[in-house]
Amino acid sequence: MSNKSNPYQDTEKEILPILKFTNEPLERIIKQKSCNQTLIIVDDYNYKIINKLTGIACKEIIPIEDSNAKSIEEVKSSLEFNRVIAIGGCSALDFGRACAKSKIDIIIIPSILSTSCISVDCSIIYDGNNHFSVKTPIPKEVIISFPLLTKSNEDIVKRWTFSGIADYLSNISATIQFIYENNQNLLKKKPNDIIQVLNNYLPDCMKLLKWILNDFTELNHNALMIIARHLYNAGIIVIKNKNPKLSAGTEHELYYYLKLHKRYNRDNPTHGELVSIGTLIAAKMLEEQFNQEVLFLKLLSVFKKLKLPTKLNEFKGINVKTEDIIEGFEHVKNSSLFWKELYSHDLLNSCYMAN
Ligand SMILES: [Zn+2]
Repeated sequence: MSNKSNPYQDTEKEILPILKFTNEPLERIIKQKSCNQTLIIVDDYNYKIINKLTGIACKEIIPIEDSNAKSIEEVKSSLEFNRVIAIGGCSALDFGRACAKSKIDIIIIPSILSTSCISVDCSIIYDGNNHFSVKTPIPKEVIISFPLLTKSNEDIVKRWTFSGIADYLSNISATIQFIYENNQNLLKKKPNDIIQVLNNYLPDCMKLLKWILNDFTELNHNALMIIARHLYNAGIIVIKNKNPKLSAGTEHELYYYLKLHKRYNRDNPTHGELVSIGTLIAAKMLEEQFNQEVLFLKLLSVFKKLKLPTKLNEFKGINVKTEDIIEGFEHVKNSSLFWKELYSHDLLNSCYMAN
């Protein structure tokens, strides 16, 4: 992944996005927030709903499939606008943020809690062959509409939301990788201490892990609110931290590899389901190399609760081929010292067979 230069780095001090929860449906939020200088970027699914609405003042409503660099450039060069409202899953939000050509308002309305990207100040965009991260303005508001989040059937809402949690939990494998490369002694402590070490690096993420393990029972209104707040925090940490290495590591490289070379898309398996594989294997590597089994066992329980795969035969259920995972890791393991030195094919079996 390459980082393009940051056109916003000289702006005055950061103002973090405001997180708003509402029981208003999408239609009403748009009518309140949009004016004739507003560009509305929306995924295909919600476009069908919005396009039928009458009385919306806006510059244009643009349906998008993917955060494609060429389409983003076209929008930027052909339209004048001072506000973007981005509605949908991560691709629509990535696209919307990346449309900003100067200081403009960006309002994010996630339709699903599918990833931990709802409040970040960057976008992943594709140029046909590659993906890269571009710096974008910090969103002005992140609006969580409960009617919008829960409009699909319960199983779909669960799958997307659990995927968002899995995406956030991948901060754990990314951070282990970072610690291995920078302060390996921290990994050699007593088994329970690794939780303390991760608590220091990732307090909010580890709090979410603990909450799922001990308190989460059903995906009701309150649980959605707690999860949305954590996913929002994940983005704030990215804005404040300026260290992307704690948020995404080799588990994400695997995702990008499979997306590009095996045509995996974001729907099945979801982004979070796919990165969860790397997270669990990273914890297994920690167990085998440093006798740190506590983290692996905790993740295992959490993954079972979130219906993420914990056995090889569950890969089929999320449309993942074991041979693709093996091939993928073979290609991406050199992206970090931790994976390069500790990963082997056998781990897939010891991680996903023995449970
Ligand atoms: Zn991710």
